[in-house]
Amino acid sequence: MALVEAAPSPALDGRRRLSLRSPARLDPIGEIEIPTESEVASTVERAHKAQAGWASLGFDARAAYLRRASRILLQRQDEFIDTIIRETGKPRMEVLAIEMLSAQDLLAFYAKRAGQILEDESVPLHLFRTKKLRISYRPLGVVGIITPWNYPFLLALNPVVQALMAGNSVILKPSEVTPFSGQLVGELFEAAGLPEGVLQVLTGDGETGAALVEAGLDKISFTGSVATGRRVGEACGRNLVRCTLELGGKDPMIVCADADLERAAAGAVYGAFANAGQACVSTERVFVVDEVAAEFTERVVAKTAELRQGVEGEFDIGPMIFERQLEIVDRQVRDAVEKGARVLTGGRRNPLYAGLFYEPTVLSDVTPDMEVMREETFGPVLPIVRVRDEDEAIQRANDSPYGLNANIWTRDKRRGVELAKRIESGSAIVNDCMLTYGVPESPFGGRKQSGIGQVNGDIGLRSYCHAQSILVDRIGTKAEMQWFPYTTQKLNQIQRAIRVIWGTSLGRWLS
Ligand code: NAD
Repeated sequence: MALVEAAPSPALDGRRRLSLRSPARLDPIGEIEIPTESEVASTVERAHKAQAGWASLGFDARAAYLRRASRILLQRQDEFIDTIIRETGKPRMEVLAIEMLSAQDLLAFYAKRAGQILEDESVPLHLFRTKKLRISYRPLGVVGIITPWNYPFLLALNPVVQALMAGNSVILKPSEVTPFSGQLVGELFEAAGLPEGVLQVLTGDGETGAALVEAGLDKISFTGSVATGRRVGEACGRNLVRCTLELGGKDPMIVCADADLERAAAGAVYGAFANAGQACVSTERVFVVDEVAAEFTERVVAKTAELRQGVEGEFDIGPMIFERQLEIVDRQVRDAVEKGARVLTGGRRNPLYAGLFYEPTVLSDVTPDMEVMREETFGPVLPIVRVRDEDEAIQRANDSPYGLNANIWTRDKRRGVELAKRIESGSAIVNDCMLTYGVPESPFGGRKQSGIGQVNGDIGLRSYCHAQSILVDRIGTKAEMQWFPYTTQKLNQIQRAIRVIWGTSLGRWLS
C-alpha cells in the first residue's frame, strides 16, 4: 500500500484527492485536494495582481513581515514541529536543530540584510567616464517555487523568503508527500498579515507542478530530483522562463592520512545517516586513504551500530519518508551485495517496525560499477572505498555525473582547501559536513547534473531579481562623437583614440 494514493472517491466537484499516511506508523494523516488547471491559472492571476503593491512597499516594510513571522514561529514552534514529525517521522532533534533553527536564522538574516544586498549599486566605469552606471535589482514578478519532501518546511521557506524580500509574489507548490509541512509556510505568513495574493500555497502533485511551470510565471525555483528537474528545465526553456534547479547529489567524502579519525568517523556517520540519509548533501561515497582505512572503517561501523531507530522518545534515525525511495535503497544494496560488496552493518529493512525503516548500512568492497556508487541513494547507506592517496580520491570523487557538495578531512586546513578546489562540486566543506545549505552567506547550487543556478548568498538572493543596468549621461554635450553625422573627421578622431588607448602603455594603464 502506498503512502500517497488517490483517495477512493473524488471530491463532489470532481477534483482529484490524495490520501496520506505517516511513514513511521503508516496511519492515515489526512487528505489533500488537487487543484484544477483553472484554479492554478486563477492563483497565478491573483499573484500577478498582488505583486506591484508588494514590490512598492520597499525593503523595510517587507522585512517587518519576516520579523513578525519569526515571532509567530517562536510561539507556534511545537505545533509546527508536530506537523512535520507526523508527515516525516523525523527525530524531534532534527526538526528543531535543522528546520526550526535555520528557519529562524534565515528570517532574521534576510530581514536584516536583503535591503543591503539588493540596494542599487553605483559602478565606476573604466572607459565611458562621461556616464554613470547604476545597477538596480528589480523584482522579476511572480516566482513559482516547487519543493521536495526531505526537509519539507525549510526547503520551502528559504526560497519563499528570498523571493519575497526581492519584491516578488510567490506561489509555492510543496511535495505531495509532505503537503502539510509546506502549508505551514503559507500559514506562517498569513498569520504575519502578508497582503492577500503575495504568497499562495498550491498543494498538489506533479501535474500541478507541471501546470504551474506552464502558467506564465517569471521564474521557477525548483528543488527536487534530476529527472523532474530536467522536465522543468525543458518546459522553462520552451517558455523562456528563467529557472533555478537544485537537484540531487552523490556527495564524496575524502579522508586524508592526517585526518582526526575520531571526528572524521563521527562526521561520516552524521553526514550519511542524518535525516535517514535523505538529504541532497548526504555523504554518499567515502574515499579513505589506505593507511588509515582500517581504523577509520572500524570507528564508523562501531558508531553506526550504536544508532537508535525509533518512532518516539529519544532516537537518532527515523524512517524513510517515501516508500519509492525505500525501494531504491533496498535495490541498490542488493545490487551491491550481488556484485561483491560486504555489508559491515545494517543492510536490510528494520524488522522491528512496520513503517519505512531501513537500518543504517555501511558497505565495503564496493566497485564503481555498482548502482550505489553511481546513482543517488538518498537513504541511510554509506559505501567506503580504500584509495592509494588523495590524488586517487579526487579522481574517484569526480568520476560522477553529480557535483553538489563534498567534504574533506585533514589536519592541514590549507591543503584541505586546495583539495576542495579540485573537486567538481558546487560547494565543499573541510572537516565538517552537510552544513552549507544552512549558511545563508554561502551560495549553494550544484554542478554537472546537480543543478543550474544557486540559492543563498548574495548571488542566490539576486537570482530572484533582474539586474537592470541604468546608464546616466553626466555631461550633457549636444551630441556624442559616434552619433550622426558620420564624417571623415570623426572617423580619424576615433581611430586616434583607439591607437592611444590600446596602442600605448599609458593608454592601456588608464583603460
Ligand atoms: P521530485 O523531483 O520527485 O519532486 C520534487 C517536486 O516536483 C515535488 O513537489 C513534485 O510534486 C514536483 N513535480 C513532479 N513532477 C513535476 C513536473 N513534471 N513538473 C513540475 N513539478 C513536478 O523530488 P523528490 O523525490 O520530492 O525529492 C528528492 C530529490 O530532491 C532528491 O533527488 C534530492 O537530492 C533532491 N533535493 C535537492 C536539493 C538541493 O538543494 N539540491 C535539496 C533537497 C532535495
